Amino acid sequence: MSDIGQNDAFATPVDMVAKTQNVDPVSGLDQHDVLKRRDRYGPNQLHATEKQSALVIFANQFKGMIVWLLAFAAGLSFYYRDIAEGIAIVVVLAINAAIGFFTELRAARSMEALARMSEFTTRVRRGGTVLSVDAHELVPGDIVLLEAGDVVTADLRLAQASNLQCDESVLTGESVPVAKQVDPVAPNSAIGDRKSMAFKGTAITQGAGEGIVTSTGMATELGRINHLVQTAESVASPLELRLDRLGHRLVWLTLALAVLVIGAGIFRGHEVAAMIETGVALAVAAVPEGLPVVATLCLARGMWRMAARNAIISNLASVETLGATTVILTDKTGTMTENRMSVVRYLTSGADIVINRTGKSLQFETGAGETDPQADPQLGAVLRIGALCNNAALEQGNQGPLGDPMEVALLQVARDAGQGRDALQQTYEEVREHAFDQDTKMMATVHRDKDGVFYAVKGAPEAVLKVCTRVLEPDGARDLDAATRAQWQERSRGAASDGLRLLALAQKQTEREDIPPYEGLTLAGMVCLRDPLRADVGAAIAAAQAAGVRVVMLTGDHADTAAAIARGAGLGQGGQLTVMEGGDLDALACEGSDRSLQDRILSADVFARVAPATKLKLAALYQQNGHIVAMTGDGVNDAPALKQADIGIAMGQRGTEVAREAADMVLKDDSVGTIIAAMRQGRVIFDNIRKFVVYLMSCNVSEVLIVGLAVGAGLPMPLLPLQILFLNLVTDVFPAFALGFGAGDERVMRQPPRDPTEQIIDRSRWILIGILGGAITASTLAAFSLALHWLVLPTEAAVTVAFLTLALAQLWNVFNVRMPGSGLIVNEVTRNLWVWGALVLCAGLIAAVFWVPGLSELLKLPDPGRAGLLLALGGSLGPLVIGQAILRFGPSRWSGV
Ligand code: ATP
Repeated sequence: MSDIGQNDAFATPVDMVAKTQNVDPVSGLDQHDVLKRRDRYGPNQLHATEKQSALVIFANQFKGMIVWLLAFAAGLSFYYRDIAEGIAIVVVLAINAAIGFFTELRAARSMEALARMSEFTTRVRRGGTVLSVDAHELVPGDIVLLEAGDVVTADLRLAQASNLQCDESVLTGESVPVAKQVDPVAPNSAIGDRKSMAFKGTAITQGAGEGIVTSTGMATELGRINHLVQTAESVASPLELRLDRLGHRLVWLTLALAVLVIGAGIFRGHEVAAMIETGVALAVAAVPEGLPVVATLCLARGMWRMAARNAIISNLASVETLGATTVILTDKTGTMTENRMSVVRYLTSGADIVINRTGKSLQFETGAGETDPQADPQLGAVLRIGALCNNAALEQGNQGPLGDPMEVALLQVARDAGQGRDALQQTYEEVREHAFDQDTKMMATVHRDKDGVFYAVKGAPEAVLKVCTRVLEPDGARDLDAATRAQWQERSRGAASDGLRLLALAQKQTEREDIPPYEGLTLAGMVCLRDPLRADVGAAIAAAQAAGVRVVMLTGDHADTAAAIARGAGLGQGGQLTVMEGGDLDALACEGSDRSLQDRILSADVFARVAPATKLKLAALYQQNGHIVAMTGDGVNDAPALKQADIGIAMGQRGTEVAREAADMVLKDDSVGTIIAAMRQGRVIFDNIRKFVVYLMSCNVSEVLIVGLAVGAGLPMPLLPLQILFLNLVTDVFPAFALGFGAGDERVMRQPPRDPTEQIIDRSRWILIGILGGAITASTLAAFSLALHWLVLPTEAAVTVAFLTLALAQLWNVFNVRMPGSGLIVNEVTRNLWVWGALVLCAGLIAAVFWVPGLSELLKLPDPGRAGLLLALGGSLGPLVIGQAILRFGPSRWSGV
């Protein structure tokens, strides 16, 4: 095999390139070749997508301040010859690093697996058959098939190009698509001029083609500029950044406090070394270093849950944004409806013909009885136009139907009525097609028949009516006068308001095949199709409304059809449905346009006859008015709007890869219900993160306060450094993780969306942290004093009472972070099995202190006796009672965890 990293393929004829690549373009590579080449060239990946090594993650654990503080404390113990304590601190350090390491590793691997889920697939020809493979499996020499909407996944020398155009802005910055060709170009052409190539990362905007892979991975043009592109670099989400910032601020606060405690302790006559160790232990306990990584883990877990519910999210930030979304701009076809069309009615000038289907047989019923398509020339004409002006294909063998479901439905009826397309094409040989254009909303095909040239046209009723001059009547064609035109408009509106989708069908017979298709046509009739609503739509819309999220439907369809579908789905406010047309937004283009128009647009529930450019405008308008916008899209033209939206949502089943690439979330089942489910997850995750931050901080605050106040008040030390470290490892960590993993409460979807500028820990939550932390502190110090003065226990045993009170109070504290208004016994925290698991584990570890020989001596925790134990248990319940009282009677904003 000659060398394959070919740099001059664009200037070389295709057959030479195929030779150099050692591949036959007709059959492609065989499996053996593929494996050999994959060994040689590696996976088709940019380095940025390679996985983060465990070693790097391990090394990361030793970068943080906690480790250095612990190492300092251990050093101090060894210096003062307290070997046992020194070793214990090293063990703490190791456990701390291990927890950090596994958390981060898990988060990193989850993120990588999620990234793989949204990887592109590519159609290749291998061993004579067309297969769909993951993009990273491509090797040089593979034959890749391209069509509009694909993202190119390797550098290709084009072997076939029909009307092929490529958006190369990723590489060249030029946003106008480039027309591609098969002929070689000049050897010194710049990238933008290499029209015989399709490059990795670019998007096919039009046409179809085939190419031979010339380079993969980092050898591609995209790979070369990868240091600029950084495509797969994972960016921390705003939430992680905010937590990081919060953590940093707390570090300084904690250090200041630790220094204060040390100073006060020494001033009060405590031993210098003991005070330094206490200060260090406090700093370790209070620094919430793990916050960002635990948040990452929670977000990643949430992303998995969403993936299981068919919503694939490509970045962490979107999970967060989803929870704050205030408006969903959704497509109609396929998202609200099933995109499973069937023809239910034809309108001809003679009659409304209803279709009755029993199995494969069809009856065409008019008001006057059944009619036969062979004997009814008007019905025959509409069936024929529908079948001829059509790009779909019916099912064959075990392959299902291909193409636009609306066109498939037209083909099916025509076939079942005895007008199969293959037979028709014998008499009407297709010579040209004028593809469907969203501006004209029409499509035409040109055929040669025995009388000359036949034009078959279909399109939106108002568009087709405008270009028809005649109409087909039972006794032949006649002029289409104003009154008949108005009648047709009326009939089409009547059918549309039943929620039917309409197409008008027209024809003309001429001599020439190259005249403008949309002139002088004869209207043959209209066809009405039904696209049923998805079963879950009603419930999903109701859930969105309850959650204070507006759902607005955008469609290219007619306003009446759209309104009927929207009503069926339960859109609108208070039984009122406001429908606008895409064209109404044009007036918005002018600067400072009418505010009342803006208000009308912002309160509309449905936009009909919307073009992709209008979607972009709408998203921007909502955003200017403070909304967080989620928007669905599937076509190549939708990509800018998907990028503009805060959450761009692409359709996994019928969406193009270009739309998927522009989107933040891909719906595997295309359903609007999945958007709502993902939104719920987004809210739950944010809530969970808040929960564990409030939990963790209130526990940490209490540790700092207990020691600080005891020192300030001249009491003996209620907690020793190693005990603080132990508590920090045991009671804080596991319940906090468990809270982060909660499945959430139904209530999250009965609240309005969160203000996106809101802090994770706002004023009221700081107050709550203060109260809970204060309550734990008060209980512990009270138990400590009672142990000393009431039970008259020796100081060491009183320390055990303080330790146990604090440990248990921290455990019960998990129940204080339930949602306000949730049940006292049954709520999202008590339903969270992780929480129970964490509590059992922690209780076991605390018990182990007293049962595992040597541990209680090491931690200096002698048995406090039965009375001491009861005191600790009773004291630990105080903060729980206070927390529950706040939930029940306090201002709701305090307890909105
Ligand atoms: P949605 O946005 O909900 O998918 P849509 O498919 O109706 O709705 P467009 O694709 O923008 O939106 O189509 C606009 C109109 O053009 C349609 O309502 C239909 O009348 C007409 N139309 C759509 N596809 C074709 C086609 N293949 N041939 C002819 N006319 C079409």
